[in-house]
Amino acid sequence: MDFSIGIIGGGIIGLSSAYFLLERGVKRLVLIERHRCGWGTSHVAAGMLAPINEIEFHETQIFEAGLYALEKYPQWLQRLGIAHALYHDGTYEVALEADDVPYLGRLYQFQKQYNIPIEWIDYPAKNTDIPLSPHVPAATFTPSDVQIDHILLLQTLKTYVERHSEATLMEQTALLRFEYKQQHFHLYLKKEEETFDIKTERLLLCTGVYEVEGVVPKMIPVKGQMAVLRYDASILPLRPVVRIRSRHLGNGYVVPKYHLGFVVVGSTSEMRGYDEEPSAGGIMDCLRRAYAVVPGIYELPLVRVGAGLRPQSPKELPIIDQIGDTPLYMANGFYRHGILLAPLAGEAVASLILEHKRHHLTQQWCY
Ligand SMILES: Cc1cc2nc3c(=O)[nH]c(=O)nc-3n(C[C@H](O)[C@H](O)[C@H](O)COP(=O)(O)OP(=O)(O)OC[C@H]3O[C@@H](n4cnc5c(N)ncnc54)[C@H](O)[C@@H]3O)c2cc1C
Repeated sequence: MDFSIGIIGGGIIGLSSAYFLLERGVKRLVLIERHRCGWGTSHVAAGMLAPINEIEFHETQIFEAGLYALEKYPQWLQRLGIAHALYHDGTYEVALEADDVPYLGRLYQFQKQYNIPIEWIDYPAKNTDIPLSPHVPAATFTPSDVQIDHILLLQTLKTYVERHSEATLMEQTALLRFEYKQQHFHLYLKKEEETFDIKTERLLLCTGVYEVEGVVPKMIPVKGQMAVLRYDASILPLRPVVRIRSRHLGNGYVVPKYHLGFVVVGSTSEMRGYDEEPSAGGIMDCLRRAYAVVPGIYELPLVRVGAGLRPQSPKELPIIDQIGDTPLYMANGFYRHGILLAPLAGEAVASLILEHKRHHLTQQWCY
């Protein structure tokens, strides 16, 4: 089997890259995923598209990239036929205690520099109808940060690839290793007990935290845990996302996926290698922090818990780049922002591979 482009990894980045390459007319594309598409880190994401509230002061590049990606989302989803997957309830960013107010204040000033509609609210439990704890001293509200049903997005992208006449999808198939000879990559693959090889002219690695033999840089896995609760509007009538800033309990969020009937409570940031198992302590941290801000979660049934590994690059910026002299490319290191940045990633991958051009917002996303 001989392909023009091979993509390894069917997470949000591999799938969006496949979409944009196919949309640009690429022929004979193959996407290889060792499990099922969308079941890696992308699956446990909370689906926030929150460039304004995800930002830390040193992340201006991600901030601008995120604003661009967010603007692209409605049109992209329209083309995919799932415009209804976006939810526009805005985001509250909450200071948990008086100690956290100065930091939230500095963030607010920073965000205002970009002329983004954002509102400062003292004692939000008193001054809004959002069911927050009366102890919360301050919050900001950003109407433009939205959330998405990212599971629907992942499924839709997979179906798009699966049904495209120029694409082949190989699930439950792992790349064991590859080599480049006579202008082709030879990919050695394993499906169940069978090993076989295929050839591709170009190769794109979107493997998240997982290493591919002989390829650097390697990603740093940053573990994030989350709990899923059942949504019940009679107990907790919450629709906007609530993000929590706390010096004592760490940062976190409550994301009401009310349209799907559940609430996602997250998350931790842990350096524990490749350990993907949820732990009592990690889940307790998520729930305790969320309870301090949104006490109504206490009564909600616990549905499940989960954990995923965010791929962080050594330079703490994503990588969309050619690796070495052969037509080997990498799109990885999307850390906390893979869902948000997916349309930009796909667009940037397509222009790099097809035109050898860097997207103006990804100039420094080098390996
Ligand atoms: C708790 C949590 C909450 C998050 N919330 C958000 C959020 O609200 N918004 C946001 O924008 N981002 C969020 N993120 C970050 C986001 O989930 C990641 O940035 C994104 O999922 C990374 O996507 P990816 O495609 O690079 O990796 P993955 O989704 O991990 O995909 C990589 C795929 O490659 C496959 N693979 C690896 N090696 C091989 C191989 N050798 N052969 C074949 N296949 C292989 C894997 O099986 C996997 O499916 C969150 C992350 C976590 C952990």
